Amino acid sequence: MDTLDCVVIGAGVVGLAIARQLAMAGREVLICEAESQIGQHCSSRNSEVIHAGLYYPSGSLKARLCVQGRDLLYRYCAERRIPHQRIGKLLLANTVADLPRLQAIASRAATNGVHDLQWLDAAGVRALEPALSAHAALLSPSTGIIDSHALLQALLADAEAHGAQLACHSPLNRGRVLADGMELEIAGITIKARSVINAAGAWAAAVASNIEGVPRETIPTAHYARGVYFSLSGHSPFSRLIYPLPEAGGLGCHLTLDLAGQARFGPDVEWIDGVDYQLDPARAAAFYHSIRQWWPQLADGALQPGYAGVRPKLAGPSEPDADFVIQGPAEYGIAGLINLYGIESPGLTSCLALAAMVGAMANQHR
Ligand SMILES: Cc1cc2nc3c(=O)[nH]c(=O)nc-3n(C[C@H](O)[C@H](O)[C@H](O)COP(=O)(O)OP(=O)(O)OC[C@H]3O[C@@H](n4cnc5c(N)ncnc54)[C@H](O)[C@@H]3O)c2cc1C
Repeated sequence: MDTLDCVVIGAGVVGLAIARQLAMAGREVLICEAESQIGQHCSSRNSEVIHAGLYYPSGSLKARLCVQGRDLLYRYCAERRIPHQRIGKLLLANTVADLPRLQAIASRAATNGVHDLQWLDAAGVRALEPALSAHAALLSPSTGIIDSHALLQALLADAEAHGAQLACHSPLNRGRVLADGMELEIAGITIKARSVINAAGAWAAAVASNIEGVPRETIPTAHYARGVYFSLSGHSPFSRLIYPLPEAGGLGCHLTLDLAGQARFGPDVEWIDGVDYQLDPARAAAFYHSIRQWWPQLADGALQPGYAGVRPKLAGPSEPDADFVIQGPAEYGIAGLINLYGIESPGLTSCLALAAMVGAMANQHR
């Protein structure tokens, strides 16, 4: 049986960032991806926003890794010439009744280390975005947009340049914890690995369940919240990202711009039973209603179905949001295994910070 040093399960943005980190630290790395190509799931079905770190409970992994990850990502984009833009975002209070929630987000952001927010009154909002109707807003200058496909390619290229190998069409089917590592069955071939990183996104809990020796009580229940996007036909009157206040399960149906200036709206929140990217065009009715709260001139027929993504959640519909969960040797005493669960937003922003954290955990137990 072949013995490898590290196996990373999943070639999304998080798995690739971890593979890059490990390979650059001199580890031998095999990346196993079930699909025919990298980045076919969450990493290419999101808003492509580099979040500043406003929303997450202070002290949480999401808060810490988002702020660290944002800075690392901007630096990495500049170094590797990944298309991105520090475009800025407006977070809106539509009415005076919304102000306390906006104030609570501003103080949480300050505790999280985000100190560049600016308050705007209605006139200030109109001066920046004349088509926008809001009572007040917070301007976040350090929010940006990124070409997620270019990011995936750059991470893979760096990992490969340091010796990592990618195997597509290679699902992890089964595994077993051994005294000195792990036995894995990947695409029908059995190998041994010293370290295994489970970065399988929405399938992370299923992957862990297929590994004999992982305590069942440590594997969280997976929940799935689909979010669909509609694109705006024609020219966008906005030059920044526009966010309403967050809703249960998501950040609210917002407007993002891609690097070509094309606007899209979403994602909404729909709780489903597994990964399913169907987009029901009838959901547009709720989009028109919500967008017209802050852009009353949105014309009938302007929204076209775009795409869908599925958030891998650890909390169900009526529960408070959960943090990222990263379990390593300290959590369950298995030297060679690290599981990443619930890597929903801001996972894209946080990918390099997650990789630094997981890389340090893996290197402690080599
Ligand atoms: C609608 C939506 C909007 C979002 N917007 C943002 C945003 O604007 N900014 C932000 O920071 N974050 C955002 N996110 C979150 C971000 O997209 C994710 O956190 C990030 O992409 C997660 O990457 P990943 O590598 O963990 O998962 P994925 O990209 O899903 O990768 C997991 C990989 O594992 C593979 N896999 C699964 N099972 C196996 C197996 N058995 N063997 C081998 N491979 C396997 C899958 O095929 C997949 O390629 C959003 C998410 C959603 C759903």
